[in-house]
Amino acid sequence: MTDMAHNSKSPEGNVLIYSDKLANFDFGPAHPFKPVRAKQMMELLSRYSLVHDRNRQIVAPESIHEELLYLFHTREYIELLKKFQEGSFTIDMLNAGLGTDDNPVIRGIYDFCIDVAGGTHQGAMMLMNDRARTVFNPHGGFHHAGPGHAEGFCYINDLAVTIADLIRKGRRVAYIDTDVHYGNGVSDAFASSSDVLAISIHESGMTLYPWSGFQDNIGINGGVGYTVNIPVLQGSDDEVYLYAFESIVPPLMKAFRPDIVVAVIGADVHREDPLGHLNVTSNGYEKVVRIINDLSPKLLATGGGGYNVYKTAALWTLAWAAFCGLEPQDNFAGLIGGMMYGPEAHSGTLRDLPYVVSGDLKETCFDHAREVVDYLKRNVFPIHGI
Ligand SMILES: [Zn+2]
Repeated sequence: MTDMAHNSKSPEGNVLIYSDKLANFDFGPAHPFKPVRAKQMMELLSRYSLVHDRNRQIVAPESIHEELLYLFHTREYIELLKKFQEGSFTIDMLNAGLGTDDNPVIRGIYDFCIDVAGGTHQGAMMLMNDRARTVFNPHGGFHHAGPGHAEGFCYINDLAVTIADLIRKGRRVAYIDTDVHYGNGVSDAFASSSDVLAISIHESGMTLYPWSGFQDNIGINGGVGYTVNIPVLQGSDDEVYLYAFESIVPPLMKAFRPDIVVAVIGADVHREDPLGHLNVTSNGYEKVVRIINDLSPKLLATGGGGYNVYKTAALWTLAWAAFCGLEPQDNFAGLIGGMMYGPEAHSGTLRDLPYVVSGDLKETCFDHAREVVDYLKRNVFPIHGI
């Protein structure tokens, strides 16, 4: 926490954590995870006049203090990860999920991870100290990593580490994960705690990694009722997705009354994402982000997944505009197209046309969503006095 002197002291301020170095980090040509999407978002933010204002600051992430990692990770695992980043490989690394297709040996991966985690943690501290009302770290959101293993493109769980520190400092944290994948690493980390309300809405584990996160997983021991899973079926569109989200999330958030909300706003819910199978458009995504923003006294948002690079940049741009209470204005509207950013077909469009599913698929998705909502209203709402 240095170099903050130039930042707004106003708790109304919005802070964007950004680093070209992190955006340029390369997982390899065959790997779907492309950090460069954050850079494309920056280009869109500048095209739409959404940065560089007194209340919209860009802050570079700093490496996290290694000791903070141990609030969640094991020392053995972090030692392995350090050796792994130099390119050395041993069989115990494979047992820790390192050196797989999803989590390959990448030179410099540990340094990348501690900068990402540093950004997320730094954001949380800025919120705690009233230096910002909203912080967005598009580089963050590695919600699958476990205490002693890597999985699902995630090596260090920046979210679990940061939330553990907030809890230790006496804050009540609501975690809202709208990435298309279930946020298993974070949910598991706080499954027995009632200090963290961990809500994840995601494509059902019947059709998508990590093959879990069903509605009957509502936490364990003292944390029963504080883990909330909202699986939706593949094919679900904005209407189904919003129905499930709006039925569950606002009532629980109002009852829980968090000090800080930590969110993963993965763009892989989008219908053009190559890994997910939902039919959510920018319209559903934007609505959900706006609801989260409205429900949060202070908000730390992280990027999470998103494997269609242009769509991810566009959705995050809409999210940032929502956090700032702004409507994106295209500085280049009316100019000759094709010379700016992204595929020409997308030129000047951040938002999608409405898209709704109909027929049997719609009925099946809606029936399933109603079942999930009913289950949670019966089994989780009463624990919160709703
Ligand atoms: Zn994801």
